Amino acid sequence: MRTLGTVAEAVEFRRNCSSPVVLVPTMGALHAGHAALIDAARIRAGKNGTVVVSIFVNPTQFGAKEDLADYPRTPEADLKICAERGTDAVFVPTAEEMYPPGDATSIEETALSRGLCGAQRPGHFRGVCTVVAKLFNIVRPDAAIFGEKDFQQLAVVRRMARDLFFGIEVAGHPTVREADGLAMSSRNRYLSTDERARAAQFPAALTCAAKETNPAVIISKATDLITRGTGSSPEYVAVVDAETLEPLQALDRPAVLAAAVKIGQTRLIDNVRIAPSHGKI
Ligand code: AMP
Repeated sequence: MRTLGTVAEAVEFRRNCSSPVVLVPTMGALHAGHAALIDAARIRAGKNGTVVVSIFVNPTQFGAKEDLADYPRTPEADLKICAERGTDAVFVPTAEEMYPPGDATSIEETALSRGLCGAQRPGHFRGVCTVVAKLFNIVRPDAAIFGEKDFQQLAVVRRMARDLFFGIEVAGHPTVREADGLAMSSRNRYLSTDERARAAQFPAALTCAAKETNPAVIISKATDLITRGTGSSPEYVAVVDAETLEPLQALDRPAVLAAAVKIGQTRLIDNVRIAPSHGKI
């Protein structure tokens, strides 16, 4: 389905005879991580509910020097994955449909968006919030599922949905990883063989550093291991409150170790929870 009207009508038709409606927003180039989200959506929707997957490479969340033009696009394979997982509707709008001429409204979450990736990618989360708000209004799901790999995105979207009273449950799904620990990502296909081998050291570094008991030690150890393992210095490494994303000085509440690193031209992000048993919780 390519137009707002058709997807809204299809969902409305099904909403009348069944419930709930669960949305999985994606940018396509689907992999096993996306498939896991679709499966989780099906479980949440039940066999009579409606699972909607949106596939849209959202231009407003890319910076001027980022990879919008090169972002992988695999429309046929994507539709096959959606069909295999029993998706009820796949919404693949054009940019003109989502941002018609004269479009002049955006949504900005101003607290959780500031640090981490938000500091490196100005405007990124404004683009994410704007497109997700549009998708929420078009599909009007009961719930939407987002991956914990994009941990800050999940927190920002949750906050936006809460602040704007969308009445939509924003659910997280654990990160799906390759056998060697690398978080699955559409961008992994940019990696050369050598870069791919180095990329595996990124999650390994985070997992190892997260065993420490002090945020400053965790950060310095992760920075050192990422730099030595991947050959690149990280863009950021942070230990933050799992809810507020504020940097932590002590592990006295649920925490997340989050980092970004660019390997060659490919920017990777990942995060691990810091086990509560390591803090004073
Ligand atoms: P993207 O297509 O990269 O914008 O991702 C669409 C959704 O899939 C987002 O909610 C991501 O967090 C989620 N996602 C991407 N990669 C993974 C993964 N490896 N495991 C779980 N969820 C993922």
